[in-house]
Amino acid sequence: MANATHQFRAEVRKVLQILTHSLYTNREIFLRELLSNASDALDKLRFYSNRGESPRCPDLPLEIRITVNKDEKYLTLADTGIGMSAEELSENLGTIAKSGSEEFLAKMGTGEAARASTDDYQESGQLDAANIIGRFGIGFYAVFMVAHRVEVTSRPAMGDSETAHVWTSDGLGDYSIAPCDSEEPKRGTVVKIFLKDDAVEFLEKFRLESAIRNHSAFLPFPIFVDGVQTNTQPALWREPKFSVTRDQYNAFYKTLTYDNSDPLDVLHLSVDAPVQFNALCYIPASANDFFGMERDNWGLDLYAERVLIQRRNKDLLPEYLAFLKGVTDTEDLPLNISRETLQENSVLRKINQTLVKQTLGHLEKMAADDPEKYAAFWRLHGKIFKLGYHDYPNRERITSLLRFNSSAMEDADALTSLDNYIVRAPAGQKTFWYVAAPNREAARLSPYMDIFRNKGIEALYLFEPIDEFVMEGLGSYKEWDFKAIEKATEDALAGFADTEDAKTVARLSEEDQASFEALTAKMKEILGEKITEVRVSRRLADSPAVLVSADGGMTSSMEKLFKVMHKDDSIPIKILEVNRNHPLLRTLLRIFNADSEDASLAQIVQGLFDAVLMLDGYVKEPQSLADRSMTLLEEAAGWYAEAHKC
Ligand code: ADP
Ligand code: MG
Repeated sequence: MANATHQFRAEVRKVLQILTHSLYTNREIFLRELLSNASDALDKLRFYSNRGESPRCPDLPLEIRITVNKDEKYLTLADTGIGMSAEELSENLGTIAKSGSEEFLAKMGTGEAARASTDDYQESGQLDAANIIGRFGIGFYAVFMVAHRVEVTSRPAMGDSETAHVWTSDGLGDYSIAPCDSEEPKRGTVVKIFLKDDAVEFLEKFRLESAIRNHSAFLPFPIFVDGVQTNTQPALWREPKFSVTRDQYNAFYKTLTYDNSDPLDVLHLSVDAPVQFNALCYIPASANDFFGMERDNWGLDLYAERVLIQRRNKDLLPEYLAFLKGVTDTEDLPLNISRETLQENSVLRKINQTLVKQTLGHLEKMAADDPEKYAAFWRLHGKIFKLGYHDYPNRERITSLLRFNSSAMEDADALTSLDNYIVRAPAGQKTFWYVAAPNREAARLSPYMDIFRNKGIEALYLFEPIDEFVMEGLGSYKEWDFKAIEKATEDALAGFADTEDAKTVARLSEEDQASFEALTAKMKEILGEKITEVRVSRRLADSPAVLVSADGGMTSSMEKLFKVMHKDDSIPIKILEVNRNHPLLRTLLRIFNADSEDASLAQIVQGLFDAVLMLDGYVKEPQSLADRSMTLLEEAAGWYAEAHKC
């Protein structure tokens, strides 16, 4: 074995040819590969030591040192790990064990770059080294993207042989292995990398440090660059929970997110089944603009044994938990996994499912133990979280975590859960009633609220457009269904008694009932095509009238949403329901009874329609509307003065 030159196996030669002759972005990935090999070697050494086997030079610390020689344009990367014998050097660095090499060659071997996945290419047209290496698992050889010559000198930590051997190659056809009498390394491996002219950037300390920070900041062994340790942060997520202080959590959060304020909460998980992983997830104390500019800026950083695989991986979380920031680290993924294979990886799917369960559990506990904190969470992140109504298997738990403002709340800030809504509801109620409105005042003024107020039935207030989709998507919760108050049929509420406050109004005489019928016909005549019909309402108490969609139609707010989506600014033609018991209608009836052709009738009915349309959220021609209302005011003031003999 000593002093021998060996041919690389044929497939290795071809892989190397591609690695040495193509242009890459992301070449710094070579450092990640070498550092993780060094870290593995140190891990192995620690493993043997822990078993009681004593390594060579037992007092040498477990560490990685990088040095730079600018004059001769080389780097060295030394570890005090397990090391390799001559045979191991040949075996480990002379062949590519992974079947990946075959796939690699099949895809790229003939230089037909077009056959590589488009994902491998950057905009510049260069190949993305990170993805190539990931896809084909060619770890150590990545060094030949930046090196024209590599020397690996290694002295095994265990065993009888004290001799160090040096493996040398230019990454072309062959490599040689020879014994060497150098003092270094005393134990472990030194990789000496002679940089290509186009890779001398890696002689700059800041360049090395930034590459280390990017991928290898959390390796469990100190990494020194020219004597200065660059990785000073421990991989907090791998520490036992009890040993981490709040300050440490917060500090890590700030370096992770560049957020200046402390997070609202932290979840620290250590899971063994069905997959092994550690996770450190934060709930930020501010909301990001998930529905705007920051749409894609979510996901968790994915580590495999402390080495960063991907930032903001989106397979680890469902979208409705996009507010979580943090990292996951698993032992069950190979380091050099590529983006494509990540996506279909069952390990990630299992982590995802476990994270969902754990997060829901965490939120449930927060809601129970610290409702104020939960309310703060809801106000910040509820918008995203409620998208969880899609998650069928977890729907019940998610639904119980939803919060609403409602007609039973004292102020706009108060929140209720559906469970508490149920507690407050009168016996026999089996429907969550809701009203969609832009704000609390608008919800309160909805004419549909009249009957609910009279019967003391609570309505949930929905202030965001998505809320109605959520309600429809939920279908039911604890065998209660969800319905918009405007869909309340007379029967639905008939079984509930009026409250004491509900107004009792003198009923119309038979005769007046008949002429009211005639009045509604007159109103239809006045309003013409603007409405489909005028009918007497059974649901109104304080409001004179309301616009109603034909039964089974969309709610008014949904309809508006669709109109916006379709850029349709027409005013929908609906049914006008009028409240026979309202003073305004009673006065109209008096005028009508006196003279069914009175000109003010038309004016007042038109004014009423304007107001009802506005309540429904439509103002199309504000100028003519203002003009009509001025005329009405002018006349009303005149009549008033007349009546009071001013
Ligand atoms: P992988 O790390 O996925 O096995 P690599 O190509 O990165 O593939 O490395 C090949 C093998 O070479 C490793 O499995 C290891 O046995 C050996 N090796 C590489 N670097 C070192 C090192 N610094 N110390 C000891 N062994 C090493
Ligand atoms: Mg490796």
